[in-house]
Amino acid sequence: MFDLLVIGAGMAGATAAHVARLSRPEWRVAVVWRAPGESALSSGTLAVAGEPHPPAAAAPGVDEGDFGAYALGHALAAEPGAHPYQAVLRLLAAAGGGEAAPDWRAPVAEMIAALDGLYLPLSEAVNRAWLTAFGTFTPAATAQATMALAHRGALASGVTLFAGFRGFQDLRPEAAARVASHLLMAGGVFGADARVVPFWLPLPGLEQAWEIEAFQVARLLEEDAAAREIVLAALASEVARARADRVILPAVLGISRWRDLLAEFAARAGCPVSEALATGASVPGLRLLRALEALLVRDGIETWRGDAVSYEAVGGRVVAVMVEEAEGQRRRVEAARFLIATGKHVGGGIVSDPTPREPLFSLPVFAPAGAAPVGRAQPGDLTNPDPLRPQPIFGVGARVDARMRPVDATGRAAWSNLFAAGSLLGGYDYISDKIGLGAAILTGWAAVEAMEA
Ligand SMILES: Cc1cc2nc3c(=O)[nH]c(=O)nc-3n(C[C@H](O)[C@H](O)[C@H](O)COP(=O)(O)OP(=O)(O)OC[C@H]3O[C@@H](n4cnc5c(N)ncnc54)[C@H](O)[C@@H]3O)c2cc1C
Repeated sequence: MFDLLVIGAGMAGATAAHVARLSRPEWRVAVVWRAPGESALSSGTLAVAGEPHPPAAAAPGVDEGDFGAYALGHALAAEPGAHPYQAVLRLLAAAGGGEAAPDWRAPVAEMIAALDGLYLPLSEAVNRAWLTAFGTFTPAATAQATMALAHRGALASGVTLFAGFRGFQDLRPEAAARVASHLLMAGGVFGADARVVPFWLPLPGLEQAWEIEAFQVARLLEEDAAAREIVLAALASEVARARADRVILPAVLGISRWRDLLAEFAARAGCPVSEALATGASVPGLRLLRALEALLVRDGIETWRGDAVSYEAVGGRVVAVMVEEAEGQRRRVEAARFLIATGKHVGGGIVSDPTPREPLFSLPVFAPAGAAPVGRAQPGDLTNPDPLRPQPIFGVGARVDARMRPVDATGRAAWSNLFAAGSLLGGYDYISDKIGLGAAILTGWAAVEAMEA
């Protein structure tokens, strides 16, 4: 019998398990997870809250410069219970002795510290605009340590070499450099001496290939010293020729040895080197997955692979979850409390076939706005015919009460000892709201904070 069983080992589930280990050391905590989810696809930033677009969309009286305050206004302006930050902010305020402006930074900073330097510490600044592989920018609180220079402020002066690898399609330096230069100029960020210049690096052994994946490049650079030497020599000579002040590369600087590779590339280039955000198959996502696994091992949390397929409940409480560990092999896992952090469409926490549903506990799924569950909605009811507008389907999910317990159709806690966190919760969507891994951390923290001893 566990004190807490966490279902899902993405950012939300792993945060909850880690927070429980720290704040309730006497508890026996376990984590079961099926497969990599959204966290393993993330592009490299850690987004806590987006920014109002257009700025007039900010809630009245909220300082647009402070994205914490913006998120607060945005969450509180939503339908009661619709946005998970409503419960998070209340729990943060209670933990801080009822502060008017609750400090969301502490749980995020603690989780960043626990991930052993994978992400840059939170800066004093508000959101930074992080450079994507397309040369565009996206707002987030922080990003992986390999991306320290890939933000608008860092490119404002001097020469930036934006390099891609021949045959690697995820970053095409000419196009990316042109888009980034244009946006920096249009935003008035560029100093008079600033330039972004494209450059192609060789990929030894893969000269004839044209559909090379990020993991392949990362492994080549990490494992093949001779190939790395050829890349480093080409880079060093171009930096000298172009008199570059910094280098931006695709997000391929190693999976487990990223610290060594970053240092080696900077030493050989003779200037700071940084990755842009990833697209598609994500090396930063794989790094995060490995860091979360390492954290759970370090914390001594019993973690295993399995598919939670059903549950048993008695008198309003969940008493056990059935986990399929292999074909036809089931284990009944009892716990005093359960936390569901199964993600959304990628993780499998929400399945749309075609009506969105929560497959494990049959929790009602809500549209981002409105009081009623989606019921028998068809996909067309949850999409916007204008593809450029936010799509409600990305914001569907479970809702929680003030104690982070998923609610039934009447708005009451479905089970007294079932808690929920992460992108399973609706009310926001990563794509248009730019609330991602930060929400997974904050809701994971809040769910444990809300649990009674
Ligand atoms: C392509 C993409 C890129 C993104 N990039 C960024 C980014 O750069 N920055 C950012 O801040 N956010 C980003 N996001 C959003 C961010 O990744 C998510 O908000 C966050 O990862 C959600 O974490 P989670 O733990 O809730 O879910 P997940 O990471 O999806 O984890 C869910 C877990 O639950 C498990 N699970 C599901 N069902 C079961 C079951 N029945 N039994 C056992 N286990 C189960 C899954 O196997 C998985 O381990 C991105 C999202 C996508 C899709």
